[in-house]
Amino acid sequence: MTVAVEKSKEMVLKAGSRMACAGLVTGTWGNISARVPGENLYVITPSGISCDRLSKSDLVIVESGGRVIEGERKPSTELKLHLAIYNAREDVTAIMHTHSTFASAMAVAGQTLPPILEDLAQLVGGKVPVTRYARAGTPNLAAAVLEVLGQSNAVLLANHGVVGMGRNLEEAFQVCMVVEKAAQVYAWASLLGKVNEIPKEEALLLRDLYITSYGQSKNSQPARS
Ligand SMILES: [Zn+2]
Repeated sequence: MTVAVEKSKEMVLKAGSRMACAGLVTGTWGNISARVPGENLYVITPSGISCDRLSKSDLVIVESGGRVIEGERKPSTELKLHLAIYNAREDVTAIMHTHSTFASAMAVAGQTLPPILEDLAQLVGGKVPVTRYARAGTPNLAAAVLEVLGQSNAVLLANHGVVGMGRNLEEAFQVCMVVEKAAQVYAWASLLGKVNEIPKEEALLLRDLYITSYGQSKNSQPARS
């Protein structure tokens, strides 16, 4: 395998540790993938192993049609979902799927997460849509995500969890973290009686500024303020 594949594997392993440490998943749930730069290949976590216990040899390399190129393990059951997103969005090179608590609560309520915080607007761009119900691991779930995805960097999966994506694994991780935080803030603000959203035009402007200015920074962190 090429240097690019090996590098992508290392980044997936690191993202797996961070996802587990951040408490975004429980047990063996959750999965991560990355598009290998310059190649029609993807690195994806295997099915049935906790993401913080993976080694390089556990990772699976697939091509865009889903055929396994390298790896002894079975790829994640959400492989179809990952590949459908890569196919629909050229700009996406990394995907993280989590079952984080507050985002899952929004998904159970069937509630879209509006742009309520600037970091959410910067990283996701506008609202985080929620899908119709579709069973985990099925082509139907991939179809349900594509129905609402648009240019959003995150989608809430009805009665399931969240999928976040970005230009690299660091960004996909930050998206999942910020969506979880915003979902928590949304729930608390709702209890206080009122949720004020960032106006749509302002949210889009924040996103544009992030992509064109701050997004060029080395680690693609959201702008601090
Ligand atoms: Zn899941």
